[in-house]
Amino acid sequence: MSAVSEARSELISTNPADGSEVGRVQISPPEEVSGAVAHGRDVFERWKRTPFAERKRLVMRAREVIVAEMDDIALLISQESGKPVAEALSLEIAPVLDLMQWIARSAEKMLRPRRVGIGLFSLMGRSSRVIYHPLGVIGIIPAWNYPFSIPLGEAAMAVMAGNTVVIKPSELTPFVGLKIGEIFEKSGFPKDVVQIISGAGETGAALVAAQPDKIVFTGSLTTGRKILATAAENLTPVVLELGGKDPMIVFEDADMEMAADAAVWGAFCNSGQNCSAVERLYVQKDAAEELTALIVERTKRLVQGPGDGEDVSIAAMSSERQIRIVEQHVDYFCEAGAEALVGGKRAEVEGLENDGQNLFFQPTVITGATNDMRPMREETFGPILPIATFTTEEEAIALANDSDYGLTASVWTRDYAKGRRVAEQIEAGTVCINEVLYTHGIGQTPWGGFKKSGLGRTHGLEGLMELVKPQHIHTNRIALLPDAWWMPYSPTATETFRQFATKFATGSLFKTASMLPQLLRRIKELLKNRQQS
Ligand code: NAD
Repeated sequence: MSAVSEARSELISTNPADGSEVGRVQISPPEEVSGAVAHGRDVFERWKRTPFAERKRLVMRAREVIVAEMDDIALLISQESGKPVAEALSLEIAPVLDLMQWIARSAEKMLRPRRVGIGLFSLMGRSSRVIYHPLGVIGIIPAWNYPFSIPLGEAAMAVMAGNTVVIKPSELTPFVGLKIGEIFEKSGFPKDVVQIISGAGETGAALVAAQPDKIVFTGSLTTGRKILATAAENLTPVVLELGGKDPMIVFEDADMEMAADAAVWGAFCNSGQNCSAVERLYVQKDAAEELTALIVERTKRLVQGPGDGEDVSIAAMSSERQIRIVEQHVDYFCEAGAEALVGGKRAEVEGLENDGQNLFFQPTVITGATNDMRPMREETFGPILPIATFTTEEEAIALANDSDYGLTASVWTRDYAKGRRVAEQIEAGTVCINEVLYTHGIGQTPWGGFKKSGLGRTHGLEGLMELVKPQHIHTNRIALLPDAWWMPYSPTATETFRQFATKFATGSLFKTASMLPQLLRRIKELLKNRQQS
């Protein structure tokens, strides 16, 4: 956690578990931010020419640096974000190492120039190729909840595509951000291929105003809207990875033990501070009692404490602001007639010198939730799991889709045909069948939301394509005759165009062949015109 100091010149980073100071970082003034983007553009001119093999070597080297410092990095992530060290390893370090090896090894192949089939145009001696140019400077503005894996993974993909990067880490996790810069430096990357600037929202806004060649933003819908508005003025392209209110649908034929384990992890890992956390559980009526009992029993067994304990499953939340939203949502639920079966308030964690703050919230299971309750519509971003019921497949789909958000969802059933049928009707960027939450950790797959969960994609081929500009190169190898559609126009031309519409444009070789006499008349006409001129 951190605060902007009174002088507004430095960020003070503190550990959410006990309030102790992690350190202080100078805030980058606006001129330094625009300077970083301008400098990034100079560095880009050289970096974009670096062969893929060299980019790959450096990214693989960066992996080695991370592995060598793994435990220290995990501890730093835990100290600034509050999450358990175990989750820093499982949900940040391991997945980003995997993403890095994948993108290092496959970017060249994925960005290889591509010949495009152009149908009947190729009969005229033409061909088309698409080549991919890097964009330039990518501005990365991440949230605090995955302060290491999200910006680092995005940066690794950006540099493999030939871009340079400026990262503005969250003000809650500035030292994790600086660590990312240090990793690129230690791996031998040319200076400033990846630059880190420090600060809060104002610094992020300054980065957007500095007009990088793309903004990749992860954070709230409110901030996403502001970024989009500024970006629109400059026509800066953006990827927005925003919030979620992700549903988990459990049919009565599901494996209830698995579903209960998954619900507990999906709702409570990182204290529920995941864009893809299970924020709404819909269980088929006849299975509700059994599933709820299994979830409550598992929840009661979770150990809560400071993130550096290796047996700790739930640690501190990131900030007072965040924990207050959770308290409010629990109150809203209870006032509306739902019931907290376990949890529901801040946890008493023994032996903590917490300087008057307590950011531990008990994992909380709520029953009797319905979609008309306010916290079923707003993102909570905390360790609460509201359970609602449904009767039919159609009702489950309607309940799941009854949200402004559409990031991820999961469907639990032993009937895979039903699982796929339901999954394909859910409005979300990722839908898992008998799995939950973790696919951000599969770098090969696209990540991003439908509806108000965002724009564009990170990860996968789709994410890589966000970081390049495709260029179409079209060649005419028989450039001897004028094209039939060139000027001057005439009755012969008009008839030819009619036949283009009715014959050539069908894509049928047979029909196109039948327009050859008309085509020849038109070409003769064009040649005659040329001789007369
Ligand atoms: P936030 O919007 O408050 O802040 C995100 C980042 O934006 C921070 O670095 C912040 O300093 C910066 N920022 C704030 N105001 C800005 C402005 N006007 N211009 C430019 N930058 C600005 O979000 P948060 O509280 O850090 O993160 C929580 C949110 O992030 C949740 O809604 C969560 O769902 C979402 N999230 C989404 C994904 C995803 O992949 N879709 C992943 C993680 C988190």
